[in-house]
Amino acid sequence: MGFYQGLITKQSCVLCFETVKFCVYKTCESSFVVNDNRCLCCAVKLSSNLNLCGECLSHSPAFYKIYVLYDYSHACTQPIKQFKFNHQLCIGDYFAHQLYGLYRLIIKDNGNYDVIIPLPISRVCIKERGYNQTHELLRIIAKKLDKDFHHYLCQWCKSIFA
Ligand SMILES: [Zn+2]
Ligand SMILES: [Zn+2]
Repeated sequence: MGFYQGLITKQSCVLCFETVKFCVYKTCESSFVVNDNRCLCCAVKLSSNLNLCGECLSHSPAFYKIYVLYDYSHACTQPIKQFKFNHQLCIGDYFAHQLYGLYRLIIKDNGNYDVIIPLPISRVCIKERGYNQTHELLRIIAKKLDKDFHHYLCQWCKSIFA
């Protein structure tokens, strides 16, 4: 082992503590379930074999399509919470890397986008967390792609959850 290799600290998976290079061990990553049976527009899970959910059929949303990296359930919730609330930036890097892979697949099918705009969060959330996690993830992707990144083009106005 060279001198510099000896200085590199080993990392543990944030879920099972197995030694890993990048935050999450492969076995744990495979448990981040993606349910394929989703509305083709808003990505809500569908229990039937329909293509679109009732909401999108009756009130077409302002967006064309939502893509899903992982379901926010099971093992996936823990590292997301650690990133959001404990500022574990290596987890942010991990999810940014995974999102970057998904983004590359999307632009391969649909062509490239002009600009990346993160979903805004409320001032209260920013004050509590100290940062917008969506901003941090997408900033990494925009930098990797040398793409324009405009966090001010979209502003938070109200909660979408009742
Ligand atoms: Zn693990
Ligand atoms: Zn829908």
